[in-house]
Amino acid sequence: MENEFAQDPVCNMQVKISETELKTEHDGKMYYFCSSGCQASFLADPAKYL
Ligand SMILES: [Zn+2]
Repeated sequence: MENEFAQDPVCNMQVKISETELKTEHDGKMYYFCSSGCQASFLADPAKYL
């Protein structure tokens, strides 16, 4: 299915979009995370992972 998975920008894991609550909008784009730790890392320094 198209767009079912997104790549976690921090650890590069594939995240199933329908099963995660861990998402953050940055610069008009939605990012998904495998864990709250990855989300926190991204939020601390988004530019590092883009
Ligand atoms: Zn991750």
